[in-house]
Amino acid sequence: MSTMFRVGQGFDVHRFRADRSLRLCGLTLEGEVGLEGHSDADVALHAVTDALLGAIAGGDIGLHFPPSDPRWRMADSAVFLAEALRLVRDAGCALVNCDLTVVGERPRIAPVRLLLRERLAELLELPVDRVSVKATTTEGLGWTGRQEGLAAMAVVLVREVDE
Ligand code: MG
Repeated sequence: MSTMFRVGQGFDVHRFRADRSLRLCGLTLEGEVGLEGHSDADVALHAVTDALLGAIAGGDIGLHFPPSDPRWRMADSAVFLAEALRLVRDAGCALVNCDLTVVGERPRIAPVRLLLRERLAELLELPVDRVSVKATTTEGLGWTGRQEGLAAMAVVLVREVDE
């Protein structure tokens, strides 16, 4: 087994928007304030997508899916993730694990953590025990503290696959 690994990190932010439903990790969280964005504004999937692209030095989500392209209007961000995963495999790599942190005062992640992990694991084609979903507030400080938006950070590890 190859011991050549590459790490990738991703970060994303979206502004809250009351008239949209919240999409997170490919799920709709009923009763939660949604996010502004050209696509479905799934801040978590955007961060993971960027982490996957970062691991293979494959650019970023804006390069592959420009918001100026009408094809991506209201798009399911699972499409972006699937394409990034395909690029990782095309680069001769296999995903090892993913660690995601959601930063904001809301929604509360603990009650839905397992659901989010299970959906993200399904999208990443990984066992659930290789997919982590964490959350933190900023203790009321800054724009996340003022509940203006939601941020997400992701790290992935990929392994170079032997021929
Ligand atoms: Mg985004």
